[in-house]
Amino acid sequence: MQKLYKIQFKDKGVGAVNKKTRRLMLRYLNEMNISINFVEATESPHCVLGLYTNYYIVNKLGPKFSGLSAADTQGPRPRQVYLNKDNWESPPSHFSRVDEYRKYVVRHEIMHTLGHLHVKGKPQKPCPLMLPQTNEAVVYKNRCIPNSKYTEDDDDLESYKDF
Ligand SMILES: [Zn+2]
Repeated sequence: MQKLYKIQFKDKGVGAVNKKTRRLMLRYLNEMNISINFVEATESPHCVLGLYTNYYIVNKLGPKFSGLSAADTQGPRPRQVYLNKDNWESPPSHFSRVDEYRKYVVRHEIMHTLGHLHVKGKPQKPCPLMLPQTNEAVVYKNRCIPNSKYTEDDDDLESYKDF
């Protein structure tokens, strides 16, 4: 049976995600081709996703999150995703394309809410989805190529089905 992973998007006020962007995010998630169907839901969601300014993220989570997005990897449902709106609109320059960065970041943060942790990359290979690629220094240190797709260096994306 197809598993439904229910995402509630912030729909007004701080963190609001407009309809067009919601559709785009769901498409990016469903194009990962894993056996989970990511859907929008207003009731009993597994996670809640918002797009927040960097200013809000720093105030809420602290200065070490400046310039980054964040998500809960554990704890009660629904788990929170704080996508950095400044990066969404103006991606880090080590990503060659806007949509490549957007795909990477929404997939990376949602996989955190499914319990996935960070992994390391390998030189000259596409960076794993679960490498924190927003941080250019991390990409440089791992000497991998910015990437939005699942790689063999990621843990099995199918291994978390506890939702
Ligand atoms: Zn991360």
